[in-house]
Amino acid sequence: MVTRLYTHPIYLEHLTPAGHPERPDRLRALGKVLDDHAFDGLDRVQAPMGDEATILYAHPETYLERVRMTIPQQGLTRVDSDTTVSPKSWEAALTAIGAANAAVDDVFSGKADNVFVASRPPGHHAERDRAMGFCLFNNAAIAARHAQKAHGIARVAIVDWDVHHGNGTQDIFWEDSSVLYCSTHQMPLYPGSGAKSETGVGNIVNAPLDPDTGSEHFREAFNTRILPSLDAFQPELIIVSAGFDAHHRDPLAEINLNEDDFDWATGKLMERAGSYASNRLVSLLEGGYDLKGMSLSAGAHIKRLMEG
Ligand SMILES: [Zn+2]
Repeated sequence: MVTRLYTHPIYLEHLTPAGHPERPDRLRALGKVLDDHAFDGLDRVQAPMGDEATILYAHPETYLERVRMTIPQQGLTRVDSDTTVSPKSWEAALTAIGAANAAVDDVFSGKADNVFVASRPPGHHAERDRAMGFCLFNNAAIAARHAQKAHGIARVAIVDWDVHHGNGTQDIFWEDSSVLYCSTHQMPLYPGSGAKSETGVGNIVNAPLDPDTGSEHFREAFNTRILPSLDAFQPELIIVSAGFDAHHRDPLAEINLNEDDFDWATGKLMERAGSYASNRLVSLLEGGYDLKGMSLSAGAHIKRLMEG
């Protein structure tokens, strides 16, 4: 397996208020884990700046301009109760999109079998017309549409194991049967959506988990809901909204996963990518707010991507 890693120093310059969980140190902690010799085989590439026009794959132009107008010359501007922008946030967000789209291009050109994108800000809470939950633009949604437009595929699956429901991704694809959106998440929890009854046009599969559950329920949700849905849909590309805040150490939720669970889930998705998508799998960092829990879990995920 050739596993590519995209990251960029600009991601550290998207700043949030003191004490905010979604902070630059997250990527610094992950960088330290990836310094280990176990990751010597990673194909490390600096993330490219994205094409602004691709934002319109998932968001209206009025929204793009609204976000652009909020970027301050200095200091921080709040765009939502828990989402802020700083002077370099536009460049960081556009580079997160650039990396996601480049990752898609790489798995189609054969430059990589799979790709992990270590970027900020995250994306899965960004709805068509609304920034929220630390997210400005929906990186996974844009990358899915990019795959369809640039590489001519019909079916993309987005699997979201962040502990929060990806309301933004669900919103964007609510009526789009060409994209399967599958999510495991704690419920009840922010943002409140993600009930089993929310099914879009049959393309949305929500597998909510009760607080204080762990590996057993997570794996059961995969085995009974997520994986069978992938088998029925036969995606030509799998995109992972890879948040690691379902780790037991995470301060924002009460799901008790450990590194082994992310390794296991990665292996299951790779099996499906092998069956239906010529191994093509693109994984994008979403949440994960305990530095140790997030970085070790992401490390286990990336190691599995490298090993097959
Ligand atoms: Zn999350």
